[in-house]
Amino acid sequence: MKLKIKTRLYVCLYCFTLTLFSSCYDDKGGLVDIKNDNLTNNKKIIIGERSGNINLFLEESNEDNFLVLEGDMLIPKSSVNVLKVYNVNEFKFEGIDDDIAYFKKQYSAKTTKFRSAINSNILSGAELWEGRWVYFAFNNKNNFDKEQYATIFKAICHWANKTNMRFKIVPANSHLKKITIFKKSKGCSCSVGSGNGNMNLSLTCDFQSIVHEIGHAVGFGHEHQRPKRDHYLTNFHTDKDYQFIKEGMDRLGENGKAIVAILKANLSKENVYDDSLPFDYNSVMLYGSWPRNHLVLRDFLKRNNLPVYTRLNGELIERPVYGLTSIDISKTYAAYQ
Ligand SMILES: [Zn+2]
Repeated sequence: MKLKIKTRLYVCLYCFTLTLFSSCYDDKGGLVDIKNDNLTNNKKIIIGERSGNINLFLEESNEDNFLVLEGDMLIPKSSVNVLKVYNVNEFKFEGIDDDIAYFKKQYSAKTTKFRSAINSNILSGAELWEGRWVYFAFNNKNNFDKEQYATIFKAICHWANKTNMRFKIVPANSHLKKITIFKKSKGCSCSVGSGNGNMNLSLTCDFQSIVHEIGHAVGFGHEHQRPKRDHYLTNFHTDKDYQFIKEGMDRLGENGKAIVAILKANLSKENVYDDSLPFDYNSVMLYGSWPRNHLVLRDFLKRNNLPVYTRLNGELIERPVYGLTSIDISKTYAAYQ
């Protein structure tokens, strides 16, 4: 629980460090307003180490023996090893990155060790994030509107609240391994696992889509591409279907060849390190019968009754809309103990 609180705080801190982001979400999905005037000029922001974990952002409290975590939780000062203190006025988000790297090195023996992906549902070949820290950066040229930023942060907060993963937004030029978020005109995508990668988000990417893309960032492939999927899904497209789809897309002015190639790639079976966890029809990593990544394609498939797959009894599968399921969460814990 402690870790979850911390991760949320990182995201939230960014919210009020850059005034662009004015809100974050709490455990129950409620909106927590974060305003600049939460911090008065004489308060301080502290990086500290507590129970072997560093990167705590805390504020000084009016009560001598306590620090304030997350605006309203008091933490005994004696439980925190203070590493660095910033005056609020001097607090520059850009400056913190290097400090964290420095302190992390010093305290590496104490930080949570990451383990190999071998006993997890992680996509074969993907690397895990060290210490369960996933770093995101926003491309400087992005111009997401306030609502889009709020949805992105809501999705990150959802992961932070529901799993043991920890997330931090770092500057675009940070030397840390990170996934850079780009605004695109079409589609939603993300590189898989740890490393320098990209997440591409467009207006069609809603909360569920972004939670899905973060799943890729964490290291997961698609639920419908797991090796055991044939025991749960059927009616995948045939070569004849693909040819029909290609021609249909070409007629609609789209690049049929490219669309079919992507579709095939996103529906073929892939290897994972361990496929033993139950198959999950509600997983955030499952498309459902009508993938929504490409809206022209989705409408075409629907018009022609060509779902990308169905249940074994032929029933269509709705796109799940609830964020992470308990199995998604179990998979994450199994991978990142
Ligand atoms: Zn995906």
